[in-house]
Amino acid sequence: MKVGILALQGAFIEHEKIIQELGVEVVEIRQRKDLEGIDGLILPGGESTVQGKLLRQLGLLKPIQQLINEGLPVLATCAGLILLAKTIDQEETAHLGTLPIVIKRNAYGRQLASFDSDIDMRSIGHYPAIFIRAPYIESVSDDVDILSVVNNHIVAVQYHHQIGLSFHPELTHDTRIHQYFLSLIQPSSQSS
Ligand code: GLN
Repeated sequence: MKVGILALQGAFIEHEKIIQELGVEVVEIRQRKDLEGIDGLILPGGESTVQGKLLRQLGLLKPIQQLINEGLPVLATCAGLILLAKTIDQEETAHLGTLPIVIKRNAYGRQLASFDSDIDMRSIGHYPAIFIRAPYIESVSDDVDILSVVNNHIVAVQYHHQIGLSFHPELTHDTRIHQYFLSLIQPSSQSS
């Protein structure tokens, strides 16, 4: 099994360490050929406008979009979730747009730019979530499963093989979310 981690900008090293700790091979995605043979993909937090621009410049946007639409499992956190969203509140252009939700960037304003919260998450239970200039999900289409709601705002969803989180599971020592993601992956026959 091989998991690709988008490594253009942001908190990719932390995800990488957790996936390796769980005994799974990792490949950093920086160019199109890095996508060959991956069985799952992680889109890390960071800055979504920068990541979106780089995805376009490097010709990665369409190939990643196609892989996700074909069923590649994805774990997207914070800026990564913004990349996946079909609609970004108050912005004209989405990026990958494969997840039918409306997302609001920097949704908690300045006072609450960063905070920790012990959340309740479906399939996981209690989880120590770290939010950093986080987005929240304003609305979802009917077939999206809501995994967690904090203060009336949706912060975790699953849509078939796509998991989207407003917070940063790579910054805690709790590996359950990454394990849950790995459980969705069926290794492809082409990867070694
Ligand atoms: N505020 C960032 C954005 O809009 C996301 C923050 C994060 O990934 N921690 O892209």
